[in-house]
Amino acid sequence: MRQSMFQRASLRLTGLYLLIIMSISLIFSLGLYQLASREIEQGIRRPNSFAQIIRLNNLEGLQDFLTGQDKAIKDAKRDIRISLGFINLFIFVSGGLLSYYLARRSLRPIEEAHESQSRFTSDASHELRTPIAAMRLENEISLTDSKLTLKDAKKQLESNIEELDKLTSLTEGLLKLSRLENEDLVKAKADLREIIENAIARNKKDISRKKQTVIRKLKSQEIHTNEEALTNVIATLVNNASKYSPTGSEISIKVSLSKSSYLVDVKDRGVGINPLDEDKIFDRFYRADQSRTKNKVGGYGIGLSIAKKSIEALSGKITVKSTVDKGSTFTVCVPKY
Ligand code: ADP
Repeated sequence: MRQSMFQRASLRLTGLYLLIIMSISLIFSLGLYQLASREIEQGIRRPNSFAQIIRLNNLEGLQDFLTGQDKAIKDAKRDIRISLGFINLFIFVSGGLLSYYLARRSLRPIEEAHESQSRFTSDASHELRTPIAAMRLENEISLTDSKLTLKDAKKQLESNIEELDKLTSLTEGLLKLSRLENEDLVKAKADLREIIENAIARNKKDISRKKQTVIRKLKSQEIHTNEEALTNVIATLVNNASKYSPTGSEISIKVSLSKSSYLVDVKDRGVGINPLDEDKIFDRFYRADQSRTKNKVGGYGIGLSIAKKSIEALSGKITVKSTVDKGSTFTVCVPKY
């Protein structure tokens, strides 16, 4: 359906391009033909000036001479028409192919954007449908349970609220992702150290619940960036470092300088990431094998994809180095200016 929509649009655009090319070619050919005809007529008749005509001393000879001239003009014009016909045929064929190529090229970015939009919508609806269906099933079971006590009902409501909170954060994440695709991030002066401290503060509850320690190697550094976006990115990395590491472990955050960028390393001593998953974890909704984690860790697999999109919007990049069962280091590289 979508394929045929873009196919039809390509053909329509090809037709339009071809119409423009052929109109120009035909107008040009017509002009050329008229100019050439005039030149031929003048060229054939001019040398036969009076002197030649006078040399022809009888009327019959003059008649033959003029008929010969007319025939020569007619033949020359016919030759031009044939040549122009071939040239236009060549332009029609090559112009048609070129038009189709140009039409496909012009439509490709629109087609890709459309494709990614529909993939996004279908992924998002799938992710939203699964927890909603599970919640509905739980509620139905509770409703048909004749022995349901007030305590059970309250427990059920609590679990519903928990699920709803997760769904809210998922929809917020989806909204953020779609905004990042359509909006530019405004940059201003900010302090990198403050940004990192704020990102850690956002995860204070989880970190202290797991009795983890955050080791910082930071200095005040002025940076030109979008403060909110960069804070979100580092907060996501700190959150993951805490989520995927055992109780009591250490998380270290270090800032270093390269020639034109600041590098922020967020290092944990957690479960690590399988090398096969390292590229995929930045994809939307991708979650690496959770069987390695003792307690099933909650999440929807969109944190890192938002982080990657945000960093790219800030002209930086995000990379990961990891060893299974030893830990991971995520590095955010942001330009100084
Ligand atoms: P979520 O954490 O909600 O699943 P993310 O997009 O933040 O989503 O992460 C994607 C996946 O990458 C996670 O499911 C996890 O498998 C893996 N991952 C991310 N950070 C770490 C980390 N610090 N240690 C181990 N695995 C990680």
